[in-house]
Amino acid sequence: MLGQARLRSLIETVARTVIEHEDELTQLDSAIGDGDHGANMKRGFEAVLAELDALAAKPLPETLKAVGTQLLMKVGGASGPLYGTLFMSLGKSLPETLDRQSVAQALDAAIAAVRARGKAETGQKTMLDVLVPVQRALASGADPAAVAARANEAAEATIPMKATRGRASFLGERSIGHMDPGARSSALIVEAVASCFGIST
Ligand code: ADP
Ligand code: MG
Repeated sequence: MLGQARLRSLIETVARTVIEHEDELTQLDSAIGDGDHGANMKRGFEAVLAELDALAAKPLPETLKAVGTQLLMKVGGASGPLYGTLFMSLGKSLPETLDRQSVAQALDAAIAAVRARGKAETGQKTMLDVLVPVQRALASGADPAAVAARANEAAEATIPMKATRGRASFLGERSIGHMDPGARSSALIVEAVASCFGIST
């Protein structure tokens, strides 16, 4: 069970981490997209921060649904509806009392919803190339530090991929050699969550 103070600090850590990396996400998206991913994510997570107290006062599943709604409304681009779907679906699937198996199962269901919404699979150089290995690491019992490390490796592993979904796919072969911006933002979110769960209370 996440107490209100920990939930508040979890949401705040994730939001601030994404916002602090705006420039990096902008640069990644400038290389293989239209350069708006940093601003998109910042706008979404600023909207989340603006509701921090109200979000932290809800039971976790409701918090996640509300975060998903904010991201869906505010992020825009291709990633807004996908992150919105991810968080809303997590909210629908997660029980109030967390254990590793329920988190792994909820993430599996949320990834399936993202796949369906974006009509994408792994290997296409998108956020799924981080989310799927993270889910597998969680399901196989990796600790928070190992899950975060897996997320970062998986984001790095998008560098040699050729994009076949999303705006970067318009570049074809020229998308090779750059990290996918959505893979990077997913890794940042996972790392921020893991850092909160890594600190035992
Ligand atoms: P846009 O591409 O509309 O400018 P963003 O720049 O905010 O939107 O987000 C781009 C990111 O969204 C990509 O780096 C990729 O990770 C992710 N993305 C795009 N299309 C898809 C899709 N169909 N499925 C999964 N992720 C996708
Ligand atoms: Mg973009």
